[in-house]
Amino acid sequence: MERSYVIKPELGKTYPQVSHGKGIYLYDVAGKRYIDGCSGAVTASIGHGIEEIAEAMREQALKVSFAYRSHFSSEAVEELGAKLASWAPGELNWSFFVNSGSEATETAQKIAIQYWQEKGRPTKTRMVSRWMSYHGITMGALSMSGHVLRRKRFVPLLADYPTISPPYPYRRPDGMSLEQYASHCANELETAILRVGPDQLAAFIAEPVIGASGGAVVPPDGYFQRIREICDKYDVLFIADEVMTGVGRTGEKFGMDHWGVKPDLMTLGKGMSAGYTPMAATMATDAIIDTITRGSGLIMAGHTYSANPQSAAVSLAVLRYVEAHHLVERAAVQGAYLLKKLQELAEEIPLIGEARGLGLLCGLEFVKEKKTREPFPLSKGVANQVIAKAFENGLLVYPATGGLEGIAGDSIIISPPLTITTEEIDELVELLKKTVMQVQEDLRK
Ligand code: PLP
Repeated sequence: MERSYVIKPELGKTYPQVSHGKGIYLYDVAGKRYIDGCSGAVTASIGHGIEEIAEAMREQALKVSFAYRSHFSSEAVEELGAKLASWAPGELNWSFFVNSGSEATETAQKIAIQYWQEKGRPTKTRMVSRWMSYHGITMGALSMSGHVLRRKRFVPLLADYPTISPPYPYRRPDGMSLEQYASHCANELETAILRVGPDQLAAFIAEPVIGASGGAVVPPDGYFQRIREICDKYDVLFIADEVMTGVGRTGEKFGMDHWGVKPDLMTLGKGMSAGYTPMAATMATDAIIDTITRGSGLIMAGHTYSANPQSAAVSLAVLRYVEAHHLVERAAVQGAYLLKKLQELAEEIPLIGEARGLGLLCGLEFVKEKKTREPFPLSKGVANQVIAKAFENGLLVYPATGGLEGIAGDSIIISPPLTITTEEIDELVELLKKTVMQVQEDLRK
């Protein structure tokens, strides 16, 4: 075709057309093969081209694809809700289905606000989040996000919410133990709550492992336990944004399971349908839904495609696939192997400041000076250079630089499908090594 009529992420750039995918590999129409080292956008977590999922799609489409949620529920939606309730921690028994992670976090924000209204506490409308975070691109979700690059053009339209420091062990103050650092960071939440006033705050939102704005930043043990205590003390709901970490990605069903912490609201997306259809969810506890049921009885959220039978059937088939192939357990085992290999790379290559991760959500942070951990200026675009070079070499990795100039490095995420084999990890790491060495060489010129 002579010209394109499609607005792409980078205007003016020509993108290859994808032809098909199988397992961890994607192929373009010219026949070039790519290792999907990041499951696209940390999404295609069961791999590409799986027959059972295609079958489930066809079966549901032949029954009914769309029936509006104000008219009907469906077997697929009910079974998906039940499956998620059986997986989720604590009393998170209720799911509200949406189509993207942004919608899921924004729905969580709305449900939190509505909950306090129904409890007769209408001043509790603001959110607290962390300055290194990403919760989505819609205005409500972006208001809670610390991703400077994605926020900066829209700041006047965003709600002015307080933020606290993320736990970022690689850049913690010298001499501070991880244990001290965990409470040091968590206690900032208490300070923020007292500063703003508990009567103003509906909820605190956090990603279990920081993804798109930091590159798989794992909190120290004890951090989320302390966060939970503080939220309980001041009647502030805790929202775990598990859009990236949920459904096995980190080697537990949900990121919070690593610390045994039970959120009041939890958001899912990405791996919930593994890229086979748009699907996301906001999960809420019995206490929240009982309160709203006794009050107005109506959740003020939702979209045309919310809870459509087609997407529900596909997502259900994905969750069944994850269970049948023990992919949660597999993510823990393969993730440990991948992290070990990445840490070996970090030892060897000066450009890599740190390799980190949990399960199959891993990251690399690039630094100018390893000893001092000095980051590159963002204008240098080091992570983008790595991503572009990797693409050339047939490897896909995901950007995770949140625009935090001077206080965070350039990072990428490595998060292959949970089905990846040990040999495939070796192949991925070999290509990554070659890529990073090439970029390091280019930077020296
Ligand atoms: N929350 C988290 C933790 C995410 O990583 C993302 C996307 O990267 C979102 C929310 C937004 O999801 P979506 O891009 O599907 O709207």
